[in-house]
Amino acid sequence: MNDPTFDSLFARAAERRAAGPRCRFAPSPTGPLHLGNARSLLLAWLHARLLGADLVMRMEDLDRPRVKAGSAAQILDDLRWLGLDWDEGPDIGGPLGDYTQSRRDALYQTALDRLIARDLVFPCFCSRKDIERAASAPHGHTLTYPGTCRRLDEAGRFAAQARHPDRRPGFRLVVPDRVVTVEDAVLGVQRQDLRREVGDFVVRRSDGLFAYQLAVTVDDALMGITHILRGEDLFPSTPRQIYLWDLLGYSCPEFWHVPLMLDPAGKKMSKRDGSASIAEFRNDGGRPEVLVGQLAASLGLAESGQALSARELLGSHDLSSLNRCLATAAGRVSPA
Ligand code: GLU
Repeated sequence: MNDPTFDSLFARAAERRAAGPRCRFAPSPTGPLHLGNARSLLLAWLHARLLGADLVMRMEDLDRPRVKAGSAAQILDDLRWLGLDWDEGPDIGGPLGDYTQSRRDALYQTALDRLIARDLVFPCFCSRKDIERAASAPHGHTLTYPGTCRRLDEAGRFAAQARHPDRRPGFRLVVPDRVVTVEDAVLGVQRQDLRREVGDFVVRRSDGLFAYQLAVTVDDALMGITHILRGEDLFPSTPRQIYLWDLLGYSCPEFWHVPLMLDPAGKKMSKRDGSASIAEFRNDGGRPEVLVGQLAASLGLAESGQALSARELLGSHDLSSLNRCLATAAGRVSPA
């Protein structure tokens, strides 16, 4: 349980973060990057470079069944084509790797073992249907876990497994009765009641894979990440991650959750729905300056119709102008 790799990485990450800000890209190689992904990643790059941060590329291929062969290499190639760069990553190495999630299972297991040793994790035999039936009222799109398996003793667990002989249990983390406050640089102050709005959440799935929430918090802690800029669709996960960092003894990064780009029909873009991708834009002969200009203009960071490189975009902003454009796009402040 005292894994020297985990602890030495944790200590090295602390040294790195003490030396200066650290940011990350965290794409999932589940298909070609659509233009919404491209915009969030362009913003993550701009933010990191304006901060003077080290920028880490982490390939989030945790969810093996959804990973598409060739997609990781395509993502790196598309982002370089767009004019973005990074300081550590799967293709260039670095002091706090491995930078590919599928090669980090031992680290996730150590974190899980430590939570189990503190009696904070329990096996859960519930299917989604069971939870839907038992949950009093769903909050938004996420179902609040009603605590069914948390209350089981040894005999109860045995009986639950006997009732579902084919079902492997998942593992859930007990959440405290706590309202978590997040001061997001773009969205402002937000609150989430962990127990009432989320409930005990999955840290290891019933298919044996580590859950996103556990992996991403372990990775951000062991890579010394100080600032996270990502799409606002991930905001609802943030309080869970803050709680996990708290348990790991990691100080919480600063957050910038940015508005998502919508498709022409006003819907959230998705790889699954085949939203327009960087790859298509490239294949159609598009130039990176045109795409950077379009993505930037959609947030008021450039004039509409302007073509400019990522470097030129960087040269025309500072952190406060970036923050102002994002907060305006998120509907928080009116344009200056
Ligand atoms: N890999 C996740 C995604 O592509 C991002 C995770 C994160 O930024 O925390 O949606």
